[in-house]
Amino acid sequence: MSSKPTGRNGSSRKIVYVAYTGGTIGMRRGDSGYSPAPGYLAERLAAMPELNHLDLPDYVLHEYAPLLDSSNVGPPEWEAIAGDIATNYQRFDGFVVLHGTDTMAYSASALSFMLEGLAKPVLLTGSQIPLAEVRSDARENLITSMMLAASGEPNEVCLYLNGALLRGNRATKVSVGGFDAFESPNFPLLGSVGVEVSIRRDLLRPPGARQLQVRTLSTDGIVALRLFPGISASLVERLLEDPVRGVVLETFGAGNAPARDGALLDALSRASERGVVVVNCTQCLRGKVDMSGYATGRALAEAGVVGGADMTVEAALAKLSYLLTLGMTPAQVRRSMAVNLRGEISEA
Ligand code: ASP
Repeated sequence: MSSKPTGRNGSSRKIVYVAYTGGTIGMRRGDSGYSPAPGYLAERLAAMPELNHLDLPDYVLHEYAPLLDSSNVGPPEWEAIAGDIATNYQRFDGFVVLHGTDTMAYSASALSFMLEGLAKPVLLTGSQIPLAEVRSDARENLITSMMLAASGEPNEVCLYLNGALLRGNRATKVSVGGFDAFESPNFPLLGSVGVEVSIRRDLLRPPGARQLQVRTLSTDGIVALRLFPGISASLVERLLEDPVRGVVLETFGAGNAPARDGALLDALSRASERGVVVVNCTQCLRGKVDMSGYATGRALAEAGVVGGADMTVEAALAKLSYLLTLGMTPAQVRRSMAVNLRGEISEA
């Protein structure tokens, strides 16, 4: 068994691994606005005496190079983060991933599928204002995430911001500038942090029974397609051509699509027959897809489209990518999309 690392203080306190990918939280103000600067966050953390408090876990900071705005984070970075968590898994009590908020819900969703059998907390957090600014949400987000990561629960990939603990694959960014940037529209918060820290233990996922295994996840051949009134069926037809393998179709209301002239449905039907997996997710923030309610939804089911129930688009994209990367057949992927794998979907 590998021994626990010694933190900065040489203490035997709980210890968390802090993986810094970039994002506003660690940015420095310069002439052309905020940008990440190597080594800068480490300096800022070293200047925070509260991080030495015995109520907080010790930490080891790992900074990625280059530091990225989260718009530039994708499968290679997810793989690096998941790999680092696996490498350091036995030696740390929990993991904090500092990440830009823009694509945090995508990364949290992807990591939830990639980290199979997770039995330790993985907390993604960031901030809307850099830690270095006087008026910033970063300090609380960081400190609480570190405490949650050291707490031994939740044993899943979560997102923490502004007093709200969310299941990572249920989260979506809803505000550009608010501190409460994320919502979990179809699943309750896993916890609320105010004067009291209140965790919904009844909702937490059980720790993985087997050893942690990192799965790769490729987004090759995956697209998201948002329907709108007037969308061209012939353009959709072309968009669904090879090498497309999986589509998250963002539909109206309970999962409906324009069905009047049949051309769009024909395009979807032909794609499904070729083995493209098309998953129906609603454009609405809340509620779930039910293709049996309206003729316009039923027609999609007849075209081979499978329902995404109440998954976020972020989670559906990650799940589709994950299942296709596992090498499943289109029929197996279609069946598995409806199965709850990581708490991402409410089963009927
Ligand atoms: N553009 C930044 C990013 O996502 C915003 C943030 O960090 O909140 O990296």
